[in-house]
Amino acid sequence: MKKYLLPNTGNFYKANMHMHSTVSDGKLTPEEIKRVYTEKGYSIVAFTDHEILLPHNELTDENFLAITATELAFNLYHVDGGYPYIKTYHLNFFSKDANKSVISIWDPDLVFDCVKPKISEEQKKHVYKREYGAEKVNEAIAIAKKDGFLVSYNHPVWSLQDYSDYGGLKGLWGVECYNNVSERVGMPDDDRPFNDLLVQGENVFPLATDDAHTLGDCFGGFIMVRAGKLEYSAIMTALEKGDFYASTAPAFYEISVENGIVHIECSPVRSIYWSTECRVAGNVCMNEEPITSADIDIRSYLEHNKASSPWRKPFIRFRLIDAQGKIAYSRAYGLDEL
Ligand SMILES: [Zn+2]
Ligand SMILES: [Zn+2]
Repeated sequence: MKKYLLPNTGNFYKANMHMHSTVSDGKLTPEEIKRVYTEKGYSIVAFTDHEILLPHNELTDENFLAITATELAFNLYHVDGGYPYIKTYHLNFFSKDANKSVISIWDPDLVFDCVKPKISEEQKKHVYKREYGAEKVNEAIAIAKKDGFLVSYNHPVWSLQDYSDYGGLKGLWGVECYNNVSERVGMPDDDRPFNDLLVQGENVFPLATDDAHTLGDCFGGFIMVRAGKLEYSAIMTALEKGDFYASTAPAFYEISVENGIVHIECSPVRSIYWSTECRVAGNVCMNEEPITSADIDIRSYLEHNKASSPWRKPFIRFRLIDAQGKIAYSRAYGLDEL
């Protein structure tokens, strides 16, 4: 029986999951953000202002959903002064509760001056000293998850981070494979950290975001969430389950599997790639005309993995690349789903 890996029911909602407004260092007000994104066909924006968790539920209506979120930093400082840090972890925390306005890992030392007057008295009661290092970050992720947040790992390249920094992270929900600001400043991300964490056995999902601070940063990376309705808990449930793909333009319309054959339907692209946790991968490429579907035979991969070593967690994932080099990333699907 055909099994849909990307759900085949519900609507697709376009979302920018990383956005800075005038609440922190962004140039657009929350109202302007809603207007410009709605005009471009988006239904969802996560307001991830730096070091402050501030709901924007007043913006939510039947055509738009504001996700309550914040971006927090874990900085590595030079011991001898100078430029304030050399490496940093930037993580976004998305609240499953739209009304949440306090995050228990709030560190007053890291709040921007322009944000300080907006910090609530209630938030000031919840102080947590953030420190650099995977162990400390994992502690903060665990606390936030318990408090009802989904946590993403942002722009590794801009953060000057490599495997030695992110390889040990645990409990993340998402990893940015594309960040529009990093792209614009010439420090583009890719899907390597996402893949590395999957290989480690982490159940992470791919993200493409804008991280926009100005209008010029908008409309580069997005996710398409499939859910029954545009309502806070329905969208957060779909996000938590991974019912979405990330993209900078191409669209997945269907990802399904039947008897070891994966079927993909998509917008016109140059190539459809598939890859796994090991050195088994392949692609279907256009000949003369762009392609809009593919049937990928993964029977020998599945057969091989029945006898696989227990040290690895097998998965398969898919990418689309269009004629302009724009990419879409599916999430990874485990053997139990195939
Ligand atoms: Zn950041
Ligand atoms: Zn940001």
